[in-house]
Amino acid sequence: MIRIKTARQLAGIRESCRLLGSVLETLENSVTTGITTAGLDAIARQEIKALGGKPSFLGYQGFPGALCTSVNEEVIHGIPGDRVLQRGDVISIDCGVVYDGYYSDSAVTVPVGTVSPEVEKLLQITQEALERGIQAACRGNRVNDVSRAIYQVISEHGYGVVRPYCGHGVGLAIHEDPQIPNYVGRGPNPRLKSGMVIAVEPMVNLGGDDIEVLDDEWTVVTADNTVSAHFEHTLAILGDHTEVLTRRRSESLHSSAEVSA
Ligand code: MG
Ligand code: MG
Repeated sequence: MIRIKTARQLAGIRESCRLLGSVLETLENSVTTGITTAGLDAIARQEIKALGGKPSFLGYQGFPGALCTSVNEEVIHGIPGDRVLQRGDVISIDCGVVYDGYYSDSAVTVPVGTVSPEVEKLLQITQEALERGIQAACRGNRVNDVSRAIYQVISEHGYGVVRPYCGHGVGLAIHEDPQIPNYVGRGPNPRLKSGMVIAVEPMVNLGGDDIEVLDDEWTVVTADNTVSAHFEHTLAILGDHTEVLTRRRSESLHSSAEVSA
């Protein structure tokens, strides 16, 4: 069931997203050689608490972190721990916040120092796939329009598309309907309506599509061990435009992607 949010609910979700954007900005700035993924998780817990929210991932289906921290070949759901970031790594930081009962979800892949040109390009293209998805996510379009826009960018560059995991409705719970795949599948293809809140999140591999789950039963890695990137925003579909609720000040150069229906 797709939940159409009231104006009051949208206001609450907007606040949750603003808090999350600020936390992610702090985390982005904290990524440096020598820090552990657990160190980033500790910063997230502290920041979220200080801002009056709670980490929504912590304890969700038993997940032990406030963040998913996925390094290099790790795609998503990496568990924060003692892995030390090295120059040339990339780390995907996925964070969810619940604030006053309202849920937000956003992710960013951050280079640790200078990364190889091919990895740099992977990050750029994955971000571009997210922005194209956002542009297609306007009232009156359907889920497949968003999926197609994302998939087109990824496939144009010959990258692998992660299919078993996808974007989703969000706002009143951590995951809601509808699913937003990063390719055009045969699943439900509802029309986007004013008041829907969705998380759009391309996961893109430098190599092939295939992924595996590690023995920790959480960490998703690329089957061919190539680097993977993940960018995510929570957005609200409104009557006359789509609002990117988790946009960070540091990426204001992308704000032209906000669209009119
Ligand atoms: Mg997320
Ligand atoms: Mg998500």
